[in-house]
Amino acid sequence: MNAFVNQLFDLTGQRVLVTGASSGLGLHFAKTLVAAGARVAVAARRVDRLRDLVSDLCFEGHDARAYTLDVTSRQSVIECLDAIESDFGGLDVVVNNAGVSDTKRVLEYDDQDWQVIVDTNLKGAWMVAQESARRMVDSGRGGSLINVTSILSSRVGGGVGPYCAAKAGLSHLTRSMALELARHDIRVNSIAPGYIVTEINDAFLSSEAGERLRARVPSRRFCASSDLDGALLLLASKAGRGMTGSEIVVDGGHACAGL
Ligand code: NAD
Repeated sequence: MNAFVNQLFDLTGQRVLVTGASSGLGLHFAKTLVAAGARVAVAARRVDRLRDLVSDLCFEGHDARAYTLDVTSRQSVIECLDAIESDFGGLDVVVNNAGVSDTKRVLEYDDQDWQVIVDTNLKGAWMVAQESARRMVDSGRGGSLINVTSILSSRVGGGVGPYCAAKAGLSHLTRSMALELARHDIRVNSIAPGYIVTEINDAFLSSEAGERLRARVPSRRFCASSDLDGALLLLASKAGRGMTGSEIVVDGGHACAGL
């Protein structure tokens, strides 16, 4: 690749945390980031689920380590970031990827469902971003925070009310944090994926209902995890140094489908 482009997106030596990296997009993000040269800290509630990923990445010669993290617990967030700081000396980029969803009618959701979804997608992302930002400010090195939202943060879908609310909150929180953290050279942006094929939704997206959904996507295709690579590397690297408070939508045009 052209040396100028290579240099622009290069993450050599950058220390990156990916939350919820044991499956789906988080696992893919970790692989993409190390391929660009990053040293990666992958975190999940069950650290044993990260073992294969870390051993594969280390076998390929990358610097990758696994940490226990439950984003819904302030204590767990602090302990995870302490452990990363003692191993890596700090963090330059944080990918706030951990998230959960559920599908029920508005009338069927109970308070416990609401709490799990909002605590993980919104409060969890807030606590990880806030605690990471405190450390970035103390280090004086700045950094980049990348929140994974959804096209459901701006559009709505049936059965996912609390998820829509949490992702809309995270989308706006991104801009609010960007405003206050810019003076510390910390950029805060988000990636809003459309329906991305992962092992978890593969069966649904290839079903008849999935086909009907695909027919409403202007590009007539669901994106793959790798379609997010450009947005991720842009926001993580100095290629995106002028960007903060932005949301990059990667959805094959789904969010702008005609009414
Ligand atoms: P996924 O279920 O494979 O990944 C979510 C990860 O978050 C899992 O590894 C899970 O263990 C982890 N997680 C959940 N609760 C956690 C907690 N309390 N603490 C730490 N980790 C926790 O699903 P995915 O599709 O890879 O989703 C990744 C992110 O992308 C989520 O934020 C999701 O909302 C968002 N997203 C996904 C799609 C899609 O189509 N796949 C579309 C839009 C947005």
